[in-house]
Amino acid sequence: SGFVTFDDVSHAYDGSGNAIEAIDLSIHEGEFVAFVGPSGCGKSTFMKLCTGLQPPTGGTIKVDGEPVTGPLKISGMAFQNANLLPWRTTLDNVLLPLEIVKPYRHQFRKRREEFVDWARKLLKTVGLEGYEDQYPWQLSGGMQQRASICRALIHQPRLLMLDEPFGALDAFTREELWCVLRDLWEAQRFTVVLVTHDLREAAFLADTVYIMSRRPGRVIERRSIEMPRPRA
Ligand code: ADP
Ligand code: ADP
Repeated sequence: SGFVTFDDVSHAYDGSGNAIEAIDLSIHEGEFVAFVGPSGCGKSTFMKLCTGLQPPTGGTIKVDGEPVTGPLKISGMAFQNANLLPWRTTLDNVLLPLEIVKPYRHQFRKRREEFVDWARKLLKTVGLEGYEDQYPWQLSGGMQQRASICRALIHQPRLLMLDEPFGALDAFTREELWCVLRDLWEAQRFTVVLVTHDLREAAFLADTVYIMSRRPGRVIERRSIEMPRPRA
């Protein structure tokens, strides 16, 4: 009984064969898993199914024992593009999910100061202390991506979903952010599902790496990573 389980999950888009199929897996709470494969192997499809943005056409997905029937409230997400709102400061971008996700709106109104403190603490952890009141255009690409990871964590999600979060960054910044993410995860122990086409990234970050094949997207290998990791 895992925290996230896929039971013979497949997905076919209208009028085409299976984009992914025969996915069986179990991710335990606090685990860091990565799905790796070439483009077209179904990584985005997997992500949409996992977060409930799209129901699978076959099989069952459960999170925390419950079948996923709609967008997950307990997850935070970050993507290749930071997508910060240009008219909001860094701090206000990080706080955004609390204003728009229903179950958090009420808490945020009552406990605003606590959340602001948490946002500042997260920003400090990722090296953005002093940039809270700046606007996205004043930040580098790497700094914007740091802020988007803070935004994904602001409601203390139990599940963090990352879709190529470092894909648009140069190699130096990318590896710096790998360490930032590992540190956050080691401190907070949320469950992480990362999809990436970068095998090195997957091996550096994850406890378990799932390798996907193309057409149809299947898991062809599951590998535990136990190598010691270099620290920043
Ligand atoms: P990845 O993220 O690994 O690049 P995707 O999940 O985007 O892979 O795509 C998996 C397969 O599903 C591909 O063959 C792609 O062409 C197909 N696919 C993705 N989205 C759609 C869609 N909306 N309609 C039809 N086919 C799609
Ligand atoms: P990139 O993602 O572009 O490689 P980094 O995120 O590593 O860049 O940032 C490089 C450094 O540049 C930061 O540590 C910061 O000191 C500086 N920097 C970038 N943008 C600004 C800014 N708007 N104001 C002050 N310093 C900045």
